[in-house]
Amino acid sequence: MYTDAHCHLERLFEGQDPEAAIARACQAGVTVMVTVGEDLASSAECVATAARHDEVWAVVGIHPNNAIEATEHVLERLAVLARHPQVVGIGETGLDWFREGAPPVRQEDSFRDHIRLAKDLDKALVIHDRDAHDDVVAVLDDERAPERTMFHCFSGDAELVKICTERGWFVSFAGNLTFRNAPELREAAAATPPELLLAETDSPYLSPHPHRGQPNEPARVVLTISQLAELHQTTPEEMGRITSDNARRLFGLPS
Ligand SMILES: [Zn+2]
Repeated sequence: MYTDAHCHLERLFEGQDPEAAIARACQAGVTVMVTVGEDLASSAECVATAARHDEVWAVVGIHPNNAIEATEHVLERLAVLARHPQVVGIGETGLDWFREGAPPVRQEDSFRDHIRLAKDLDKALVIHDRDAHDDVVAVLDDERAPERTMFHCFSGDAELVKICTERGWFVSFAGNLTFRNAPELREAAAATPPELLLAETDSPYLSPHPHRGQPNEPARVVLTISQLAELHQTTPEEMGRITSDNARRLFGLPS
């Protein structure tokens, strides 16, 4: 049994059928998928997808690159969506100093609002951190991060893993863990304690080796889990169990 802790089933590329992708995932043993919103519209779609499939759970939020949209009115509507029983987290939110799709101040305001919402509703917090490690940690510490917090598509080093470990934050690795030019990321994954490890596809992005460059889908999380298994000297099946258990704790999923 495998879990894809972060994907965007509503953002699959043209020609990719989400229903078929979900079916292929189930066939591959990926029986839990967490689909994540990037704005109000896609968040609503995530909730609808989750409502249609027992295997799919939703996370709702405004991506830092869309932070300009995170007005008070939108956040109120997000809070209403978030009360749906199939919504297990708030995000993805955080800081993106790489793309700077929104001004830094707006990103930080939105990030803080998302943290408060996650705490108010007792949902997991899903972090997007791109070239902003120190600032993300500073805001999380300042706001007192929710007990259940996850760094999605982890891109830090072993030092950031140490910071996450001290605070009990989950560390989620995507397909780029399998890229030949990612030895530092593999070092970080090896340094992550098993009880905080997660695996994700971030579909449709970041297809793992040997599918790099192609559209990604949840079934391929198995390749990333195999890489994690190798790094932690265990079997893919056992790593699948470990990462699924962790996702269950993080998102409060039924066993
Ligand atoms: Zn994402």
